[in-house]
Amino acid sequence: RVVVVGSINMDLVLKCAQFPQPGETIAADSFNEVPGGKGANQAVSAARAGALVKMIGRVGDDAFAGRLVAGLQQCGVDCTSVWSTEKCESGLALILVEESGQNTIVTVAGANARLLPADIKAVRNVIQESDVVLLQLEVPLETVRQVIEIAAETGTRVILDPAPIPQGLPNELLQVDLICPNEREAEQLTGLSITTLAEIEEAAKGLYQRGPKHVVITLGSQGAYLFDENGGRLIPPFPTDAVDTTAAGDAFAGALAVWWAEGASVEEAVRMGNAAGAIAASRLGAQPSIGSRAELEQLGKP
Ligand code: ADP
Repeated sequence: RVVVVGSINMDLVLKCAQFPQPGETIAADSFNEVPGGKGANQAVSAARAGALVKMIGRVGDDAFAGRLVAGLQQCGVDCTSVWSTEKCESGLALILVEESGQNTIVTVAGANARLLPADIKAVRNVIQESDVVLLQLEVPLETVRQVIEIAAETGTRVILDPAPIPQGLPNELLQVDLICPNEREAEQLTGLSITTLAEIEEAAKGLYQRGPKHVVITLGSQGAYLFDENGGRLIPPFPTDAVDTTAAGDAFAGALAVWWAEGASVEEAVRMGNAAGAIAASRLGAQPSIGSRAELEQLGKP
């Protein structure tokens, strides 16, 4: 059993030839509404990977809310603890994609900002019943802190994907079982610039010394670097033809959580995270690109 506490967004994706200049009005070539948010993406990943998944989060009371919840339910995510929030909009991301492939994103936290520590206290039992709780940083930090506190009391393992990195992340939030930043986030967290393997190891070790029991830095096409009490080691990638790496990190985190919840070693869980990231990178889109349990097992076969 995995519980995900995090953001639920509707991504409004507009494709255009070129970004508009300030003051300019342009016509888009296409418009798509795509469910997203790191929390929701990771919940979908964990559900596809075969776990019983509960989501704790908030949507608004607008037209997007029902579609967001229905979308998660269709993917097999239990939304009993996803609440609608009165007089509030759902989380949104307005994404402009230029023909060149570059994008510009404006987000509205909306109901995600209204997920508060009291909400978490109200569903303490959901955390208690879970083997792993999966967290990101698109909901208020005091809420994340409340989850970590309750999980410590109930003995539930905590995985924190520290994204996006806020100004000054309090060290208490790193007192978890595993953190899984990508390279950029690891640079922001440590203030180091990371390119060589030696630099990756230095960053991972530095983060480990700040309190998490395991540090996993995801390295895109290079796989992932794991550092814990047994030292550092590279967990190799599954080579793939990458077409769109959107949600590769979310696919990785969801699959890692599932294999770890099922009792696999941390190395094996990271290896299956790599398989999930590789599959997501080989397909277009965010949630639709996430592979099923059968696909993960097929790719990850020893
Ligand atoms: P994020 O999406 O958060 O930036 P990464 O780009 O590091 O995260 O991707 C997460 C994981 O997905 C990587 O650790 C790796 O296992 C897998 N992955 C991503 N891109 C590729 C790729 N081009 N080839 C193979 N695996 C990939």
